[in-house]
Amino acid sequence: MAWDFSTDPGFEEQLEWMRAFVREEIWPIETIYDELTQEQLDRIYAPLQARVKERGLWAAHLDPELGGQGFGQVKLGLMHEILGTSPFAPNAFGNQAPDSGNSEILALAGTEEQKERWLHPLLAGDLKSAFSMTEPDSAGSDPTLLRTRAERDGDGWVLSGHKWFSSNASIADFLIVMAVTDPHGRPHQRASMFIVPVDTPGVTIVRDVSTMEHPEPSYGKLGNHAEIRYEDVRLGPDALLGEAGAGFLIAQHRLVPGRIHHCMRWLGVSQRAFDMLCEYATHRVAGGSVLADKQTVQNWIADSAMQMQAARLMTLHAAWKMDTHGSSAARTDVSLIKVYGAQVLHDVVDRALQIHGSLGYSTDMPLEAMYRHARAARFYDGPDEVHRESVARRILRGYEPPEDGVPAEHVPTRREAARRKFAEILEAVTAND
Ligand SMILES: Cc1cc2nc3c(=O)[nH]c(=O)nc-3n(C[C@H](O)[C@H](O)[C@H](O)COP(=O)(O)OP(=O)(O)OC[C@H]3O[C@@H](n4cnc5c(N)ncnc54)[C@H](O)[C@@H]3O)c2cc1C
Repeated sequence: MAWDFSTDPGFEEQLEWMRAFVREEIWPIETIYDELTQEQLDRIYAPLQARVKERGLWAAHLDPELGGQGFGQVKLGLMHEILGTSPFAPNAFGNQAPDSGNSEILALAGTEEQKERWLHPLLAGDLKSAFSMTEPDSAGSDPTLLRTRAERDGDGWVLSGHKWFSSNASIADFLIVMAVTDPHGRPHQRASMFIVPVDTPGVTIVRDVSTMEHPEPSYGKLGNHAEIRYEDVRLGPDALLGEAGAGFLIAQHRLVPGRIHHCMRWLGVSQRAFDMLCEYATHRVAGGSVLADKQTVQNWIADSAMQMQAARLMTLHAAWKMDTHGSSAARTDVSLIKVYGAQVLHDVVDRALQIHGSLGYSTDMPLEAMYRHARAARFYDGPDEVHRESVARRILRGYEPPEDGVPAEHVPTRREAARRKFAEILEAVTAND
């Protein structure tokens, strides 16, 4: 029997350290974030990042030869559950999205020169990056419809297009841009990735888009999402990342593990909301008793605990499958948890907000921000509908229409077959009667 749900004691010690570090050093940043400039934020992070490096936890998603820790997905998952408790934690650990995913694809597809110029400084925390794929004028959930073009120009390229929701682009040094290089190629071989320094002529960061998460207009801060125009941007041959036409293939390497990390981070948020729910239930009195005595509240607590446990096991199982069988084998599992994890996040935060009444709706508690953040989880990195569709398609491949249109479990048909199978015994019994 190889089923084992325990964590290696050495790694459990690291997790313990992370829990205390994130709670004591990172959570306080949340309350003053709005007052800080990006430069002040960088100054707060520098000593925290140094402590994470000393502890051997920096850029844990990458292999040791690249300065990472080479953790597999299960360890990374457990780590992200802790980092997920605060949107400010991943930046202290060198695995802030999109830098983490970008470093993975640079490590996977970059040439030695590209690694030297972009990957190593990115890992050292000296450069920041963004991933620029989604466009306002085409459906992000079907990237074969991308419109941004990169056309050959001598041995280089000319890039033109319009993107938005490129997270962190307004503070980035370089962008990884997905553009169509072969419009007549097979749908998943049309696009390529390019490394574009943000100060290249023709690149305009139009604005940071105000969102449900950050409704107040702001510009140039960690966690913002930029609209960008690329107008006749001239790129050298060294800008192409990987083979021409390999954009989707490379993107898959980034997205599949990234979804596991998202789901574990959502569990970190859910646990924090759940703790608030339970704490409030123990002392708020209404209708003659504390809220913890109301059956509805008890149901919320029990349902949330069930959902979080189910999501956690599903996510860690998907992580284990990736580690042991590879990313393609885990695709269905990853889609399942992407949809279910986002749902659990929403439900738990919603209940925690509900129990706090007007306090939960106010900015005196972090719940309203968690709620706004949770909403986007249902469509970024693939909307629920698309994941459900692909899960159902893959499952249905294992089924065929029944012969003669009679369902395999049709009871009268099975009864007839069973009578034939046991005819001798049935006849003997009838004869004895
Ligand atoms: C917080 C946040 C951060 C982001 N960061 C980045 C980033 O760094 N870089 C980047 O490039 N993009 C980023 N995005 C964009 C994100 O990847 C896209 O929003 C996502 O891919 C969906 O694309 P879309 O918004 O164009 O929606 P569309 O593709 O237009 O889809 C709209 C809706 O249509 C429905 N739908 C779509 N397909 C189907 C289907 N097959 N069946 C049924 N219904 C369907 C779904 O309900 C879906 O929500 C970010 C988005 C958010 C919210």
